[in-house]
Amino acid sequence: MTEFELIRTFFARQPVSRADVAAGIGDDAALLRPPAGQLLAVTSDLLVSGVHFLPDVEPRSLGHKALAVNLSDLAAMGAEPAWFLLNLVLPEADAQWLERFCGGMFDLARAYNVQLVGGDTSRGPLAIGIEAHGFVPEAAALRRSGAKTGDRIYVTGTLGDAAVALRHRLGKQRLSEDDFAAVAGRLDRPTPRVREGMALRGIATSTIDISDGLLADLGHILEMSRVGARVFLDKIPVSPVCRAHIKKFGWEAALAMGDDYELCFTVPQQNIGALEKLPFAGGLHCIGEIEAELGLRIVDETGGSYRPAFTGHDHFAEQTK
Ligand code: ADP
Ligand code: MG
Repeated sequence: MTEFELIRTFFARQPVSRADVAAGIGDDAALLRPPAGQLLAVTSDLLVSGVHFLPDVEPRSLGHKALAVNLSDLAAMGAEPAWFLLNLVLPEADAQWLERFCGGMFDLARAYNVQLVGGDTSRGPLAIGIEAHGFVPEAAALRRSGAKTGDRIYVTGTLGDAAVALRHRLGKQRLSEDDFAAVAGRLDRPTPRVREGMALRGIATSTIDISDGLLADLGHILEMSRVGARVFLDKIPVSPVCRAHIKKFGWEAALAMGDDYELCFTVPQQNIGALEKLPFAGGLHCIGEIEAELGLRIVDETGGSYRPAFTGHDHFAEQTK
């Protein structure tokens, strides 16, 4: 298969066709019409085989996840996703693999009405770079930097399932078949919290998506907002499978191992009424409060202070710590 056949067969055929795309795949550059008066939110994420995913990963899941992590970044800005580009490095043009990869990617694209508008394709060790674009009204953009003393800290969904699933897959612990089935989807096909991010416009003072672990990512909010926080372990939402894991192995999966793709955000007292009226308010959990004193204080189940052994994923951190 030539590069052009590959592009025509797999990428030019896709379920979403948006009116704001004047030219998509097929020319030297895409021509796009951002809505007047809105900011363009732009993000990219790179997934490298052996670093971000296991080389034998199911290609459907990989296609889903490569797009999902980008939509999660847009969600954290309060942006509405619109377009994406796909940069693909493939060891070979394996039609079956590509069919499944595109299936996972385009199913998610359809769910959020995002159109693939271009990219590049090359031969080499498997890697996927996606760049996603979205819109947000200037005054409504959510940032990491707006948290204020007294704001409450929330997270969407539950934390830690992806980490527990990964440990099982790596052979570091054994889950029963049912337990693994309950958490595997959180690792393989995370749901980007796009609807939640957009609904938090005007309500949240700061937002981030949790990709490197709650402690690391909340840490970014604290640093950028120049504040501190207190978080209560017994308020951190976890699934039954993750809770059983925590009893045996401690809190790292939910606090520091990452891959959650939930949103962490802060809300001032006066916006809590509006927050609680959101249709998905039942899936939001208050885990603590912003404080003036810098640093993050974690309170354990007995009211004592908890010191994490490992605080979050960092590709360039020294391995010996
Ligand atoms: P050029 O050599 O001018 O950069 P290419 O031959 O790389 O163009 O790409 C031709 C068209 O196919 C362009 O519109 C490009 O955006 C698109 N394209 C190439 N690879 C991909 C891909 N992996 N996903 C989506 N579109 C792609
Ligand atoms: Mg090119």
